[in-house]
Amino acid sequence: MQIFNTPIEYLKGVGPQRAEVLKKELGIFIYQDLLHYYPFRYIDKTRYYKINEIYQDFPLVQILVRLKSFEIIGEKQAKRLVARVIDDTGELELVWFKGLRWVERTLKLNQLYVVFGKPTFFNGKLQIAHPEMDLFSRDTKERGNLSLQPVYSSTEKLKQFALDSKGLQKIMSNLLDVIAIEIEEVLPQYILNKYKLLPRKEALMQIHFPASTAILSRSQATLKFEELFFIQLKLLKIKHLRSLKFKGSVFSIVGEKFNHFYENLLPFQLTGAQKKVLREIRIDTQKGIQMNRLVQGDVGSGKTVVALMSMLLAIDNGFQACMMAPTEILATQHYASIRDMLQDDFVKVALLTGSTKRKDRKKILEDLENGTLDILVGTHALIEDTVVFKHLGLAVIDEQHRFGVEQRAKLWRKNPIPPHVLVMTATPIPRTLAMSLYGDLDVSVINELPAGRKPIQTIHLYENQRLRMFGFMRREIAKGRQVYVVYPLIQESAKLDLKNLQDGIEVLSREFPLPQYKISIVHGQLKPEDKEFEMQRFIKGQTQIMVATTVIEVGVNVPNASVMIIENAERFGLSQLHQLRGRVGRGSEQSFCILMSKDKLSKEGKVRLDTMVKTNDGFEISEVDLQLRGPGDIEGTQQSGVLDLKLADLTHDQNILQEARNTVLEIMESDPELEKPEHQMLRNYFKKHNTGITFDKIS
Ligand code: ADP
Ligand code: MG
Repeated sequence: MQIFNTPIEYLKGVGPQRAEVLKKELGIFIYQDLLHYYPFRYIDKTRYYKINEIYQDFPLVQILVRLKSFEIIGEKQAKRLVARVIDDTGELELVWFKGLRWVERTLKLNQLYVVFGKPTFFNGKLQIAHPEMDLFSRDTKERGNLSLQPVYSSTEKLKQFALDSKGLQKIMSNLLDVIAIEIEEVLPQYILNKYKLLPRKEALMQIHFPASTAILSRSQATLKFEELFFIQLKLLKIKHLRSLKFKGSVFSIVGEKFNHFYENLLPFQLTGAQKKVLREIRIDTQKGIQMNRLVQGDVGSGKTVVALMSMLLAIDNGFQACMMAPTEILATQHYASIRDMLQDDFVKVALLTGSTKRKDRKKILEDLENGTLDILVGTHALIEDTVVFKHLGLAVIDEQHRFGVEQRAKLWRKNPIPPHVLVMTATPIPRTLAMSLYGDLDVSVINELPAGRKPIQTIHLYENQRLRMFGFMRREIAKGRQVYVVYPLIQESAKLDLKNLQDGIEVLSREFPLPQYKISIVHGQLKPEDKEFEMQRFIKGQTQIMVATTVIEVGVNVPNASVMIIENAERFGLSQLHQLRGRVGRGSEQSFCILMSKDKLSKEGKVRLDTMVKTNDGFEISEVDLQLRGPGDIEGTQQSGVLDLKLADLTHDQNILQEARNTVLEIMESDPELEKPEHQMLRNYFKKHNTGITFDKIS
């Protein structure tokens, strides 16, 4: 095994100087690093194309042609060598702008050449500039020149040391010569069989030097599976270890408070999805194992009441609960709606944020510690060390993606037995991402909106249709509705955004003048208390229009606001647009979302806005988002490590991920300690890769 850890400088063709550059530029230190430096594409030299098969945008092609003529034409800068070549289907031009004399000398009229390069159309003619060119000989054929050639990405610096793609290919070949024989299997044979994977050694050889496209794709599938499999194994193993290590409080009864709320106070029927999630939580909290559950539910699906009822469950069993929200506005709103739903004081609830007065704060902390307080709602002020619970049984985190894993862990330490954790997110995450990001959590989905909701109608208008938008606003306001107008706020151009916002406000105040119309304005520059004041005016219906930057993005609930206007909508990402739209559609009235955009849109911008017009389904939208942007830009992925994938890609390899996950689930079910002989190799893998996980039994 040692050989994989050999410093790269000892490889034939490398040496100390090149080793230095490989380390600096590519992070390749040892043999193993190089082995996993995969080609980013392949040049298809497996066949000759016919000239009449080639069309615009064709990638690199290889053709077999006869040279008919060549001449140097043009003056000075425009001087170039043009050669005409033909096959039995047509002709094309080869062009050189540099080294004309040298090329000219080597060309041989009427000979057959193997020509390779990128075809383009110039003045309606097909041509290849600076092609690779070899005289055709029987030799060319016999050497097996027809193959898929790997292309490795290189850098300027590497190229100075002759490590361009070709150079890397050469040392890779040297590496495989010495290392291939040592490559061992890491996946049990029965898994290879089941998914028709290649032996690992073959997969690694073939991914660098594939014999055919068919075997290449099998080797890619094999290595992707392996990659995803071990990530899942790690995640699910963490989960398993946690279940052994951390006892969970047991909520054995459904008690008085829960029942009182359910029977007397709950103002509506729970949806089937809400009931299902409550049932899952109920089961989780009776096992004596700490619950870590993610509840995904589209905006407006009614997560708050699920959280509240879970907290009542905790209280009925003698515990306290807390609920943490990412912003002060949201925390305040949660507090208000919980107070509202509970009506009388049969449960003691308090709010703790950064702006809680010192005197109140002291009282809250006392009540918390002596157990008088049942529920504490707040911002991350909750996780400060001064906040001590008597016996915290359940922590609810709303809008997860704004809290890091670190913060989640801090909550755990708030009780000797870590509290059950319920994470609520309104950002639907594509299944593949959820599996990778939250692979160690259990996931519940609220995939049903409360009955009687009218789907929000979404309309896309261009700048030149702005008058229509004003007319529409007037009509809706006349019906007694309220309107949000949202402007983008993007850090890099905060100044410009603010100007946008100010201009917008000016125009709006002209179109909607006092005293008939009143406007609330909320943006990031305001002090929290001013923000709160403006919010409250809107919530109470004292203003009809709320102009805001994205501060209202998360969670605010004003049922009478039924129109959402998003300015510069093309500048928002899909998930943000969806979140914003979710602010309306909460009452019984028909709601609308108007996306305002400039007249000219990028292709991607158009897809985003069209998607919004087409669907209200957050999961569908998140899939499109993933396709458009890749996982790197989806919130929450940055710190998660899912981006460190070498080969697999969460956008395109969903099936492989699912297979890998299922396989691991089966293993964790039947042999969580990896004790069966066929799983020894998995245990060894973890030993070797120093993942911080040991598979030996916990004492
Ligand atoms: P979100 O999932 O976005 O946090 P909320 O919990 O804020 O959604 O709920 C949105 C609105 O729907 C609230 O006004 C809430 O009272 C209401 N609601 C929740 N569940 C139901 C239900 N089963 N039937 C009717 N209305 C509901
Ligand atoms: Mg919410």
